Amino acid sequence: MKTSRPLSDGPSTGASTKAVHGGAARDKGFHSMTTPIVQSATYIFENTAKVIEFLDKKVYGGELDREEYARYGNPSVWSLERRIADLEGAEDAVVYPSGMSAVTSLFLTVLGPGSHIVMTDDCYRRTRQFCETTLKKFGIETSIVPMSNSEALEAAIAPRKTRFIFTETPTNPYLRVADLRRLAELGRRHRAMTLLDTTFATPVNLRPLEHGIDFVMHSATKYFGGHNDVLAGAIAGGAGRIKALKDARGIFGNVIDPHQAFLVERGLKTLALRVRHQNQTAQRVAEYLERHPKIERVYYPGLASHPDHEVASAQMSGFGGVVSFEVAGDIKATSDFIDRLRIPYIAPSLGGTESLIEQPAYFSYYDLSSEERLAVGIKDNLVRFALGIEDAEDIIEDLDESLRQVPARAAVPLAK
Ligand SMILES: *Cc1c(COP(=O)(O)O)cnc(C)c1O
Repeated sequence: MKTSRPLSDGPSTGASTKAVHGGAARDKGFHSMTTPIVQSATYIFENTAKVIEFLDKKVYGGELDREEYARYGNPSVWSLERRIADLEGAEDAVVYPSGMSAVTSLFLTVLGPGSHIVMTDDCYRRTRQFCETTLKKFGIETSIVPMSNSEALEAAIAPRKTRFIFTETPTNPYLRVADLRRLAELGRRHRAMTLLDTTFATPVNLRPLEHGIDFVMHSATKYFGGHNDVLAGAIAGGAGRIKALKDARGIFGNVIDPHQAFLVERGLKTLALRVRHQNQTAQRVAEYLERHPKIERVYYPGLASHPDHEVASAQMSGFGGVVSFEVAGDIKATSDFIDRLRIPYIAPSLGGTESLIEQPAYFSYYDLSSEERLAVGIKDNLVRFALGIEDAEDIIEDLDESLRQVPARAAVPLAK
């Protein structure tokens, strides 16, 4: 039957073919084109012999071809996991109800008292908070090192204690890009596992496992789902490690709902189309902003002015759909500029069909003073623009109109 043909197996199969045909459900008994949403808490066995046949495989090892109880597995979720593994070029993947659920489960599953994590300072704020509060309570220490400083990173590694080196690529909000081969080599040399959050890149732009990274994680809420309508998370990597995570999920109970899984799988089918469009729009927007006199600075790895442009060009096939920039003005001039825009919604998040814009000084760091924010590298006039799939011309026209109304700065006396 056509459905069982391994359409996504070729080494050179493109991202869109994999996204559309990967992870087909084991049982297409309903002749359904799409993966059915299997809304069931438990699964029936025809007779005791079937129970024994299943348990033999489960307990003594073997390819399981059916489900037992929904905390341990669901066909809608399984299909999504196969599709993500295909896209990442991974042996397997595991899906969670949110990105935070993915990263916290990984750390809680693998780490024990006395172990140590090295992470970079540009990481997602909630992940860092989890490490510095919850993990600390369990006797797990975290060292934070400056992004793109591999000497500091290596110096922070504690022999026989450091289990994880964790970073993101590109990071939020400055879109820093780690040198993955160097990172993987460092991990191997110190027997630490490497974990990369590539939510901002997606496998369309970057496949970290091909560069030797051990685990890749995603907030599937962003580009995977792609429509700002579902929360989800995923981790891809080697089969043995992913199995350990799935076993732990069966104990923690943080399973994704099959309807959530369906929405992410549907979103994935258009991932490459969306991401390539977003790459192109972001590049045009970044180039436009860089030339604009009312913009002080633009951060986008596709620009030659970005500190990681070279390493990004060498390992990525696209630079992503997020552009950060600083408006020539104070916190008020910046928020006024944002308020005048007509296309992007003011909202946190990224990666969906709608463009979203935010001022990190307000959104992520409202609890800090201007000085405290500066100390963590967040300027008042910084803007993060996450491109949707709207037309680039319209977005640039919208920016142009609002920038024209940014007041000229009061003349600053030249330093003598
Ligand atoms: C959003 C995000 C997360 C958290 O994911 P949720 O799905 O919101 O739980 C983690 N890392 C990055 C880079 C993100 O953008």
